Amino acid sequence: MEINLAKTAGFCFGVRRAVDRVYEEAVRENVFTFGPIIHNEEVVADLERQGVKVIEDESEFAGIGEGTVIIRSHGVPRRIYQEIEDAGLTLVDATCPFVRKIHRIVDEETAAGRHMIIIGNNHHPEVEGIMGWCHTPPLVVEDQAQAEAVSLPQGSRISVVSQTTFNYKKFQYLVEILSKKGYDINVFNTICNATEERQKEAAALAAQSDAMIVIGGRHSSNTQKLYEICKKECSNTFYIQTVQDLNREDFRNIEKLGITAGASTPNNIIKEVHESMAEMSFDQMLDESFKTIRNGEVVTGTIIDVKEDEIILNIGYKADGIISRQEYSNNQNLDLTTVANVGDEMEAKVLKVNDGEGQVLLTYKRLKAEKGNKRLEEAFNNHEVLTATVAKVLDGGLSVVVEETRVFIPASLVSDTYEKNLKKYDGQEIQFVITEFNPRKRRIIGDRKQLLIADKKAKQEALFARIEPGMTVEGTVKNVTDFGAFIDLGGADGLLHISEMSWGRVENPKKVFTVGQTLDVLIKDIQGEKIALSLKFPESNPWLNAEEKYAVGNVVTGKVARMTDFGAFIELEPGVDALLHVSQIAREHIEKPADVLKVAQEVTAKVVDFKKDDHKISLSIKALDVPAQEE
Ligand code: SF4
Repeated sequence: MEINLAKTAGFCFGVRRAVDRVYEEAVRENVFTFGPIIHNEEVVADLERQGVKVIEDESEFAGIGEGTVIIRSHGVPRRIYQEIEDAGLTLVDATCPFVRKIHRIVDEETAAGRHMIIIGNNHHPEVEGIMGWCHTPPLVVEDQAQAEAVSLPQGSRISVVSQTTFNYKKFQYLVEILSKKGYDINVFNTICNATEERQKEAAALAAQSDAMIVIGGRHSSNTQKLYEICKKECSNTFYIQTVQDLNREDFRNIEKLGITAGASTPNNIIKEVHESMAEMSFDQMLDESFKTIRNGEVVTGTIIDVKEDEIILNIGYKADGIISRQEYSNNQNLDLTTVANVGDEMEAKVLKVNDGEGQVLLTYKRLKAEKGNKRLEEAFNNHEVLTATVAKVLDGGLSVVVEETRVFIPASLVSDTYEKNLKKYDGQEIQFVITEFNPRKRRIIGDRKQLLIADKKAKQEALFARIEPGMTVEGTVKNVTDFGAFIDLGGADGLLHISEMSWGRVENPKKVFTVGQTLDVLIKDIQGEKIALSLKFPESNPWLNAEEKYAVGNVVTGKVARMTDFGAFIELEPGVDALLHVSQIAREHIEKPADVLKVAQEVTAKVVDFKKDDHKISLSIKALDVPAQEE
């Protein structure tokens, strides 16, 4: 709070002079002031303690005997001087010189036969005193009505003075009314500058303040006027007599405070008020510098120390905040020095403002969990796909943690296929959606399966849109059986039947293919979602140039592939088998091929027949013995 004390606050010159005179006289016996020396109960009480008494009425003079009577700054009528003298008392005149000047003016003006008009309050002691210096009864005018009511014979000679503390503008206005009445008028502006300056400064100060304190006695008219002036400029104006009247609560949220005081307010009272407000301002600043915190509040702090099991945060509060390992993470083996650094800023939630040892207990984990809950709720509402690492493999599923909040993915929702062993997911990053969100019941359920199904469907649709029979695509061997291999084409599996694995013969697919192997396959046929694959690429069809290679008369070599009673089949190359009829094995009679041949045995023979359309080649060993010219 900024506090501005008006320079003109407090005793004016005249009042200070009078009060000082009383304190000077207080050392004597029987000292009296005629009326309270100022409108301030505290000063009057203090003087009383020093033996200075107050005389309220001149009738008391006679009873004093010996003593001193001090006339206060307001002044008194001329006759009082006489009465004090008549009573044999010592007179100390502390009338303000400015007031004395008015006494002289009215004395001279009325002595010169002019009607006196005093602008002021006719019950004010100063005005009563001024009246007492007039030789003819004056008129006292305080407001417009009274000014307009003044009725003197045309051409009357009048003189106007003012009470020293009267408002200048009002004085001007009333003089204007009087001036229009056709009198011979002398105007003496006897308003004291001290009052005007105090009022001007108070108005300016009040206009720029959030609150204003006006200090002065309840009966002090100049303080009352000061209060009115300030109140006009600042509705938050408080009128007090002493510091005891202050209610600090009134100034709780004030940023700019102005203080002024009436002419009769002693310095010590102003000082007390000023000090009290400055102290409050200091307390306020202290309060603000050490912000208040409450349980449950989220605070931001700077890390000032990190140990393995605790983090100390400066949170701008009078005590530091502490986050234990338990309140940092669910991982109770976590070394906090690996996750927090001195100087870093972090947010935490207040668990307990005072842990009993003057520290503030904070939690990071719970704040994260709350944020996590919020995050998960949003994800649940928006069907958002989340990515998180599997924190634990449980009997019935997986536990993943999103911003310190656990999500359970039941085994049935982990994959689109049955997962016998979930262990392989441990520590893996997986994607899922939240399908059930009920933090109160601690049920936050994740589903990975639907993502996989959707993904697969999308890939499948893309695959079917892309492929057509005759196309060669890359695939991965997913499974191998006795009758064929399933090839993953990235969206759907195709069957590579054993008969399509080679132009030649494949006895056992498992010996040819291994799971995970990639290969280019030919799309042979598509029936609904069934894709038939082949490795029998047309360009590698051995029958393409077989007519030339295996022309009748050519001598060829092959291996016995299999045998029947009527002959042996000789594989000339993969996909091209030829029949060596039992009658063509040798010149002599052979009962059956197995009597002279063995499977895999290499055989050289002559092509004796070639039927391209039927893919049939006939061989003969016997024909090898026949000279060429005899054929
Ligand atoms: S206000 Fe002016 S006139 Fe009145 S006592 Fe003070 S200095 Fe004198």
